[in-house]
Amino acid sequence: MASDLTCPDCGAVYAAGPDEPWRCGCGHALEFTERPHPQGDPLPLHNLDTSEGLWTFFEFLPIEQHVTFYEGFTPLVDAPDWDAQFKLEYVFPTGSFKDRGATTTLSRAVELGVEKVIEDSSGNAGASIATYAARAGLAADIYVPADVNQSKLMTIQRADARPVRVEGTREDVTAACLEAVEGDAGDTEADERDAPDQTGEGWYASHAWNPAFYAGTMTFAFEVAAQQGWTVPDAVVLPIGHGTLFLGAYRGFSLLNEAGIVDGMPRLLGAQAAGYAPIVAALGGEPTDDDGTRATIADGIQITEPARGTEILEAIEATDGDAIALGDDPIESTLDRLHRTGFYVEPTCAVAPAALEQYRERGVLDPDDDVVVPLTGSGLKTL
Ligand SMILES: [Zn+2]
Repeated sequence: MASDLTCPDCGAVYAAGPDEPWRCGCGHALEFTERPHPQGDPLPLHNLDTSEGLWTFFEFLPIEQHVTFYEGFTPLVDAPDWDAQFKLEYVFPTGSFKDRGATTTLSRAVELGVEKVIEDSSGNAGASIATYAARAGLAADIYVPADVNQSKLMTIQRADARPVRVEGTREDVTAACLEAVEGDAGDTEADERDAPDQTGEGWYASHAWNPAFYAGTMTFAFEVAAQQGWTVPDAVVLPIGHGTLFLGAYRGFSLLNEAGIVDGMPRLLGAQAAGYAPIVAALGGEPTDDDGTRATIADGIQITEPARGTEILEAIEATDGDAIALGDDPIESTLDRLHRTGFYVEPTCAVAPAALEQYRERGVLDPDDDVVVPLTGSGLKTL
């Protein structure tokens, strides 16, 4: 039985199904009513059968495994130049951590009997949803900005998904996508206060809104804890666009604490791009190179209205975290340094390790803190 959906803000409950609303009638993002976790002590990593990748942690997931490449359990490696550990989240079938959420989201789609999925993305999430839709044998329409990177567009097309290129801002892409999801019924006045159901062209496999996506990104935290002998690091530095990995980490580490598997939370330190930093602004911060220009190089996190902004702020507050914004210069120089030391990642991916240096300079992190930084996307898809 597929888990129903509930609104953490107003408490409304919606039955699971292919026409389930993509968000609450009150405007809030929805969550699963079920929040499973295993009982008893976890197995030490050397006794853990990790052959099914992130699905090793199926007991934590309110979704059955239907669509998978046994992805996950990405390497956690020493990065001496940064005095940190990097988790190589670009070691996934489509070269991005977004596959964590795509395997669970497409599994949910199959669970619900969905025939077609729709997603909007600047690239990586779209490529990932298209690839997992191909694995599931489902049709997929992926709404992308008109200037989408060619190799990400190619990934979508070669997986036999239909890319829909939209002129305008990233927000315009989402608006066009939602029109397709909701269909004509969503336009009538009587429906305006109701939860927007999905009676249009397909089911919204959104990395920003769909709780199934965050169920998948939670597994990042389980892997880090398992790889560190069921302990948590002092801090994790993560990029924030919609915060899919940031919130996944928060939810995962929280669930490990609730299950009594670990004791304590890592500090969650966010990294945004200058000009696209609503979380930094909400915390009262300024971009580090405060010259008023937007960071253009980090195209994967150009999000001005994250779907779960309030929860991101709660996660920062609850873990004694923080968020800072970086301009193109520190991102570019960090990207060069990553490439020179063998980490062939995409530009957006350099934002978090660049932020790590800033956090150290500002004294937010102590020199001997145990810090994990995910490297989120491969450089092979940025040509
Ligand atoms: Zn609500």
